[in-house]
Amino acid sequence: MNKGLLSVDEALATLLAQARAVPDVEEVPALEATGRVLARPQRSTMDVPPMDNSAMDGYAIRLSDLSGGMKLKVNQKILAGSVGRPLQAGTAARIFTGAPIPAGADAVVMQELTEAQGDEVTIKQVPAKGEWIRYVGSDVKRGGEILAAGKRLQPQDTGLAASVGLKTLPVYRRVRLGLFFTGDELVMPGEPLPPGRIYNSNRFTLRGLAEAFDCELRDYGIVPDSLDATRKVLRKAASECDVVVTSGGVSVGDADYVKPAVEAEGSLLMWKIAMKPGRPLAFGSIGKSFFIGLPGNPVSSFVTFLIFVRPFLLKTQGLSRTEPKSIAARADFDWPEPDARREFLRVKWNGQGGLDLYPTQDSAVLTSTAWADGLVDNPAKHAIRKGDMVTFLPYSELYR
Ligand code: AMP
Ligand code: MG
Repeated sequence: MNKGLLSVDEALATLLAQARAVPDVEEVPALEATGRVLARPQRSTMDVPPMDNSAMDGYAIRLSDLSGGMKLKVNQKILAGSVGRPLQAGTAARIFTGAPIPAGADAVVMQELTEAQGDEVTIKQVPAKGEWIRYVGSDVKRGGEILAAGKRLQPQDTGLAASVGLKTLPVYRRVRLGLFFTGDELVMPGEPLPPGRIYNSNRFTLRGLAEAFDCELRDYGIVPDSLDATRKVLRKAASECDVVVTSGGVSVGDADYVKPAVEAEGSLLMWKIAMKPGRPLAFGSIGKSFFIGLPGNPVSSFVTFLIFVRPFLLKTQGLSRTEPKSIAARADFDWPEPDARREFLRVKWNGQGGLDLYPTQDSAVLTSTAWADGLVDNPAKHAIRKGDMVTFLPYSELYR
């Protein structure tokens, strides 16, 4: 540990120890459940498929009939959605994909391996027993778990739920996330930019992140650098939200009112974190609401959101897994002078299956985050040489 700085892991552990899944569960139509977090495991009350059925367009036959010759009489046609009659000895049933296998049949011959003449069919190749039959329960067994609790439902998950006939699913209610942005210098795009002012880019980045994580967003806008204004917004946001995230004002400069405001309204932990970018981080609570104050610097607020707010939010949303999946990837760059703090370097896949480094890793360069495909999680004081394997956190993993 270096001079009074807290490690990323210690800070994260403290945050996560406080996070709890929201207490409310709601039953929503499965048709609208994609992206929500499943609150209870789901079991199937049926077998899928519910009956043996054909995997091909062709003929359902009884193998033992072929010992008497390869020509069979066709006396029924079974389409998907209908049920045929039991197969009589010496006959074949014309059958289509998804149609139930008639009683007595033990294989399907695909139509490409047959020749039809009138009401007869010649089988050109003897199939194996069970060929092209999808057996009852071969996808899902009755009573088996199909979806675990604590999972964000993907499109294929709600499809799976529907395949066993589930019409609604129990999900955690959406987390109400409040955002506000401190700084007298901030101006919204569309307004003129007076001297000394800058555009409020964090509003766009953090709002986008809140939406990417399926939060119910409350945006309280720009808050001037004053203790009263900060306390007032904080009080309102805390009364309406589960989690309040802010940008700026968490340093200890003259215009940094977030710390005293949270201390006045609730309780606060202030940390200097041993990471680059993104040093100051504030964590506290106001009533039932949690508070996370991110640095104002746009690269820092983006990275600290992904490293701290993301797992905190996921746990509050009820997700059982909060760490992002990392990938071991090849660095196609040198990083000879590492920092004494853990670094999150902006990198991008190249066409050779390795990672390139954005040339400036300065934390004021927001372009680096837009250019990148993700972050290399580089341990403190760890030099990287071209060809080394590094820990890569792709945005695709950080954004879920
Ligand atoms: P602060 O943490 O308030 O000291 O801000 C650190 C740096 O980030 C300063 O250069 C601010 O001007 C800048 N900054 C603060 N908030 C924002 C924002 N919402 N959008 C863009 N830059 C910001
Ligand atoms: Mg400020």
